[in-house]
Amino acid sequence: MSVFNDSKIAFADKSDAQLKKALRMFKMIESPTLTKIGISILNFTVRNRCPFAARIVKNTLFEQFVGGETREESMKVVNQLFKRGVGSIFDYAIEGKEDEKMFDQTCDEIKKNIEFAEGNPAIPFVVFKPTGFGRLNLYADVQAKKELSPNEKTEWENVVKRYEEVCRLAYEKNVVLMIDAEETWMQNPVDELVNGMMEKYNKEKAVIWNTVQMYRTERMEYLEEDLKRAKEKNYFLGYKFVRGAYMEKERERAEKMNYPDPIQPNKQATDDNFNHAIEFVLNNIDRISSFFGTHNEESVEFAIEKMKSLNLENRHPHVYFGQLFGMSDNITFYLAEKNYNVTKYLPYGPVKDVVPYLTRRAEENTSVSGQTGRELSMIRKELKRRKTGN
Ligand SMILES: Cc1cc2nc3c(=O)[nH]c(=O)nc-3n(C[C@H](O)[C@H](O)[C@H](O)COP(=O)(O)OP(=O)(O)OC[C@H]3O[C@@H](n4cnc5c(N)ncnc54)[C@H](O)[C@@H]3O)c2cc1C
Repeated sequence: MSVFNDSKIAFADKSDAQLKKALRMFKMIESPTLTKIGISILNFTVRNRCPFAARIVKNTLFEQFVGGETREESMKVVNQLFKRGVGSIFDYAIEGKEDEKMFDQTCDEIKKNIEFAEGNPAIPFVVFKPTGFGRLNLYADVQAKKELSPNEKTEWENVVKRYEEVCRLAYEKNVVLMIDAEETWMQNPVDELVNGMMEKYNKEKAVIWNTVQMYRTERMEYLEEDLKRAKEKNYFLGYKFVRGAYMEKERERAEKMNYPDPIQPNKQATDDNFNHAIEFVLNNIDRISSFFGTHNEESVEFAIEKMKSLNLENRHPHVYFGQLFGMSDNITFYLAEKNYNVTKYLPYGPVKDVVPYLTRRAEENTSVSGQTGRELSMIRKELKRRKTGN
């Protein structure tokens, strides 16, 4: 039986009313039809700035998956989590806006997050998304080695400047900065930029961390190359490991444009690859710090077992776990209870701007096999336990 089955630990700070509300919401997003209706409401909110729809969103999906409309408003959740031994990672959840003004604004927001996190153990990482700093198609053009126009060259210089500014600040403030991974057709320039920053700022320890998606083929080879280079040039590596969030999009594009599918052939192959990454990094723990971002119980158990077999302390400073806020509390709070380093990705932003993030969460919970079922059965189990007083 899974060690993550204790609903009492998972929901210790949730009232009965909160649990019943979460139950209703997960039931709704379990149904593809209701999710479609919900997503239409979300989009309606964005287009028409309708206060009524905004209120519905704020009381349902937003409350479940988002910390607050601002960093300050989210502090209530940060403090609540920290009391139970769980760190928070502010995730500035505004997506899909593509102009220079917005990219500068996002860069400023990330700098504020770094300053806010300085010396605060409740906020052990700051994170940003590559497309928060530049257009997806610009990264893609750089990756495809397309000739850039003079305007595009300036745009790209601005992207590089934003990376340099936030990485330097993170280094100066001693705050770990993690960069998310996105689509394969834009990821190479991100990897190159982040590797350059690691080489520059990770001489004493891993301050700058990249993200590696293990649903991709050839990522183990990529890791081995990175390790070889880091040893030669003498710097430390830090990675967040995830399975990867863009599978359908990746497969569709590869088929449409007739190139080999960059994703593992099936779920088992992705799971195996994720486990290989766990073994690889834990076997090289002196050089590599790692963060396992997953809701998969087997993966977390696999990492825990591997740590035990290597005699690593639970709270080893080079090993972190993380789940998204509003999901898999059974894993998060179990890990906290056992004294592992564990965090929640805590999105924040105005209701109208976090809609793309919420849409993804709702869709994911409908399509990802078993996730909503797991959430629902844990909530039901806890409500029953409270009723019977066990
Ligand atoms: C803290 C945190 C940070 C994250 N950051 C990022 C990020 O920066 N970039 C990013 O892309 N994602 C990110 N994710 C999302 C992540 O990539 C997964 O989509 C999500 O967590 C579901 O995977 P899982 O490991 O939790 O578990 P599971 O539910 O066991 O795995 C589902 C995943 O398995 C893979 N999969 C499913 N079916 C198949 C198949 N047929 N063939 C091959 N592979 C398959 C897919 O990646 C799918 O998302 C993050 C998740 C967390 C928790």
